[in-house]
Amino acid sequence: MPDGPLIERNPAAIRRAVLEATTSGRRVGFVPTMGALHAGHLSLVEAAGDCDDVVVSIFVNPTQFGPGEDYTRYPRTLESDCRLLADAGVRWVFAPPVDALYPDDDATRVTVDGPSQRWEGEHRPGHFQGVATVVCKLFSMVPATTAYFGAKDWQQTVVVRRMVRDLAFPIDIVVCPTVREADGLALSSRNVYLSSEERQRAVALSAGLSAARDCWQHGGDAATATAAMRAVIGEQAIDVDYAAIVDPVSLEPLSDSTQGLPAIALVAGRVGSTRLIDNMLLS
Ligand code: AMP
Repeated sequence: MPDGPLIERNPAAIRRAVLEATTSGRRVGFVPTMGALHAGHLSLVEAAGDCDDVVVSIFVNPTQFGPGEDYTRYPRTLESDCRLLADAGVRWVFAPPVDALYPDDDATRVTVDGPSQRWEGEHRPGHFQGVATVVCKLFSMVPATTAYFGAKDWQQTVVVRRMVRDLAFPIDIVVCPTVREADGLALSSRNVYLSSEERQRAVALSAGLSAARDCWQHGGDAATATAAMRAVIGEQAIDVDYAAIVDPVSLEPLSDSTQGLPAIALVAGRVGSTRLIDNMLLS
């Protein structure tokens, strides 16, 4: 049994520990999470193993949830998360209380315009402001060498990269591939909300993305590939917020004459009352 990670709740203490490591020439990999860890999170931890030390934060960030969303019932499983992270050889778990990140008179928010505006930004107003704000705070508390994010939340990776560039954070960003169940469903902490019947229907999201990719790779245009995606998803009565084929960096929708350029299909929809997102690179 490996030694467990040091569980740190205090921002000043984690900052000191990480700075001490980097000052002595060690590379520190950082994986920010909201906990309820699954194999997708653990793939980021494994990638961060390229560094000398790994720090994982576990913090359910209130500011990225909208009113009526699942902040209060979001799964919180700190004890089992720490066991998984011990097995994965993580050096520190940073699990701060809410008031360490958001003191009572907290008055500062980080807004990344551009890539935050469409898709998730449109359907979850304020979401990316909450994400950018918490990532900014975490990067300042955990001055790591490299931070690891999942392609599962593609738009989030675009927003974080833009913030890091615009605010000149001295940190490298690495994006890791989406980990899926055997049938294609992307792993998500929210999958625990699905009934077994909903779980079966939810696979239509990744199946729709695969249909779009197949269509695109056989020379279909953006409109045809989008229609193929919507047809598969529509068969399972999923309430779609958006299903679109976009430029992976600008997130602008691709027109029909853009075959050959990089493209990604994005989808978000509600299976019962559970909202899920997924995406797939087409080229
Ligand atoms: P979360 O705990 O949902 O905030 O996710 C923490 C990190 O894990 C984010 O960078 C996510 O993109 C990433 N992540 C979540 N699900 C997956 C997955 N299925 N595959 C790869 N990375 C994931």
